[in-house]
Amino acid sequence: MDPKTRVFVTADIGVALDRLREHGYGVEVFPSTDPPPKSLIVEKVRSGVDALITTLRDPIDEEVFAAGAGTLKIVAQIAVGFDNIDRAAANRYRIPFSNTTGVLTEATAEFAFFMMGAVSRKLYPSERLVEENQWTSWHPYHPFLGDEVTGKTVAVIGTGRIGKAFAKKCTGLDMDLRLYDPMIRDEKFAALVDREMELRHEAGFSNTRRTVTYVSFEEALERADYVSLHVPLLMPDESDTPTHHLMNQAAFKRMKRAAYLINTSRGPVVDERALHEALMSDEIAGAALDVYEKEPLPSDSPLRDSRLKGRLRLFHHFASGTRETRLSADPEIGMAGRTVQAVIDLIEGNYDGDPAKMPYVVNKEAFAEERPRDM
Ligand code: NAD
Repeated sequence: MDPKTRVFVTADIGVALDRLREHGYGVEVFPSTDPPPKSLIVEKVRSGVDALITTLRDPIDEEVFAAGAGTLKIVAQIAVGFDNIDRAAANRYRIPFSNTTGVLTEATAEFAFFMMGAVSRKLYPSERLVEENQWTSWHPYHPFLGDEVTGKTVAVIGTGRIGKAFAKKCTGLDMDLRLYDPMIRDEKFAALVDREMELRHEAGFSNTRRTVTYVSFEEALERADYVSLHVPLLMPDESDTPTHHLMNQAAFKRMKRAAYLINTSRGPVVDERALHEALMSDEIAGAALDVYEKEPLPSDSPLRDSRLKGRLRLFHHFASGTRETRLSADPEIGMAGRTVQAVIDLIEGNYDGDPAKMPYVVNKEAFAEERPRDM
């Protein structure tokens, strides 16, 4: 007998899917590690699946929502960012979509923190030296030196969940913090961090009394030794303070020559051509990137320039990539767990069957009693 509830999953998300099977759902998983073609997603949705589990690689646009009109009950995405999902189209068809906010905060923040250390202290060039048997003698500065991170100034661009988690980790290295966020000025958070800095100084853990303040974007760039990005990707038609190419030529010119850029947010937040130029002309010291304008990084990307190898570290969109964070079936721990829970909540009518009350649904506005017109 065909299971009543059918779920199509565009990439295997592991054992968490067993929870759906235990609930009697029919689960079909796209078997490849590459994403399915868009046409297959549309075909599956048109065939009447009740739920679609997606990754940030899948374009979930008007065509997908139109194909699911009247049948598709939820799109559950295994990511916190949802720039691949057309929110306005979801709202027009009144189809809820969910994300995995919260469970990847610490994993992503610690990866950004480690990226900062990796690029600044030249961990990879050092390893490569040994690996390639090029380490010939100990020398005070030959063949290269790194830059110490402890006690430096870090700019946190975007002080939401991940930005704040990153900032907290930086206090452990006694860094001065410059925060920038055009929407949220969390003075309570800044005051608590300041208290921690005071205690560290009083205890003698930190020789210098460190400081934390909200500043303008320009000041953050000018003051920082490290600039770490923690913003969503927002296009000019989506926000008064868009983040697309937030880091452009003008922004790089404002940074110190000795400064480093860290990006774990979304690739298009950085203008990669401008970054390449800034690195080549020594306007900044280096960068570490986890995300790109186009993913996977194309073979002809200027970022692959071999002249930049030592000071441009490139990672494979891996910041949330811990076993716990990606795959735990527990919705309080894992992205996979949270994704399947969003499907269960919707299909089984938890929270009075009201998507506006469901914790992981993003587009709650489409289900509010007073639904805004023209969504
Ligand atoms: P969040 O919504 O809690 O925080 C984002 C913050 O950015 C908000 O406080 C918002 O006010 C601020 N912001 C918006 N526009 C801004 C602008 N122009 N300048 C500065 N700040 C601005 O989101 P989060 O959970 O902290 O995640 C942030 C982003 O990180 C996600 O949207 C996602 O794209 C990315 N992310 C990447 C990975 C990865 O694996 N590399 C993992 C998780 C999240």
